[in-house]
Amino acid sequence: MSRYSLSHLADGRLFQELPHIAAVDRATTADLLAHLAEVEVRGLFAVAGYSSMFAYCTEHLKYSDAAAHKRITACRVAHDHPVLFDMVVDGRMSLTTIIALSAKLPTPDAAGLIEECAGKSRSEIEWILAKRFPKPEMFEWGTSSESGAQQAPDNSVNGIAPGRLVPSESQESGSIAAPAKPDARLTPLSEDRVALQVTISRATQQKLERAKELLGYEVAAGDAAALLDRALDALIVELEKKKYGKHTKHRAESAPESADPHYIPSAIREEVAKRDGEQCAFVSDDGKRCESRHALEFDHIVPVTKGGATNADNLRLICHAHNQLEADRKLGKQFMNSKRRPKASPKPEPKPVLKFPFEDDLRAALTTLQYTRAEISIGLCASARLAPEATCEQRMKAALEALRTPHAKKLAFAKAPASGAPA
Ligand SMILES: [Zn+2]
Repeated sequence: MSRYSLSHLADGRLFQELPHIAAVDRATTADLLAHLAEVEVRGLFAVAGYSSMFAYCTEHLKYSDAAAHKRITACRVAHDHPVLFDMVVDGRMSLTTIIALSAKLPTPDAAGLIEECAGKSRSEIEWILAKRFPKPEMFEWGTSSESGAQQAPDNSVNGIAPGRLVPSESQESGSIAAPAKPDARLTPLSEDRVALQVTISRATQQKLERAKELLGYEVAAGDAAALLDRALDALIVELEKKKYGKHTKHRAESAPESADPHYIPSAIREEVAKRDGEQCAFVSDDGKRCESRHALEFDHIVPVTKGGATNADNLRLICHAHNQLEADRKLGKQFMNSKRRPKASPKPEPKPVLKFPFEDDLRAALTTLQYTRAEISIGLCASARLAPEATCEQRMKAALEALRTPHAKKLAFAKAPASGAPA
């Protein structure tokens, strides 16, 4: 049995050992940082034949670029502020939080700053730093990626201290450009300002340009934040109008907007939304009111099907989860389930697909390496011959070795495009 298979351990033993292992890990990290700092101070990496601590760490100590960068940055900071070693040991600081702090520590109140950040998460530390060291705004309208508009103005937040013998941020992440992330990044800049970094499509950029044209001088050139603010104002008005009947000239009661008994006139929607404070009105048996404001729905307290009226007294705002719960309570769970899950037509039996472990991963990797389908087939066949417990790395190695043989090259060249799947 592998020493890392712990399925035989009792729960109590597992829980007893884990905190001890974590404590040893923290102590080891502190020792490691101290040793790295001393090796650098003494210049021993050069004595050992390395051009920098970074080269020593990656080539001799076998750290990845990112791991080496992280440890070198942290060891330098901890060397300058030895209290950090003890904080690593007792868990109040980690490599990540030391790095978050690193660029701001050359400050007269370093001790105070460290104490304030002790025990905090990285995001909490970013807020503390933004409060203590407010930064200028992040973007200007009209700048382009060529001028660096998509980069943070100060890499120091990410712990990339300039002038060190360590890779730049781009080197750290490898030479292959990382794909654009679709999610927005919010970075606190000061107490009431946040930088928003987001990748947009070309179409969205054209909409921004169009909005800028139409606004003319109403928004100062370069003020993307003001433009976004105006756009969100307009969107919020539109959504409030649609959902809660706000900003609407309501029709007179004598002129109903729909004959549908479920339809809720805009005046009633607005009244209910105002009364409920645009918050889910569900209250638990012990008096806890739901705090959700997300995707609220209007709920007939007495269902229309049971004679409930569509008026403010019989309506409330409720979140989706509580709407489902209330529907179950009022109409019966069985009935609601029958409504929620219409009988699906029986699915045809899926054809059994026999694959060996990591087959899809290997196929993707070999495709990325631009092997032909025939070559991929040869590589996968070689991998498939390994024992079921073989790791992904072992299978990849077997595939590449098979592809290196002259016989395989000849076969791949001669073979017509195949399915790519092993036998
Ligand atoms: Zn709710």
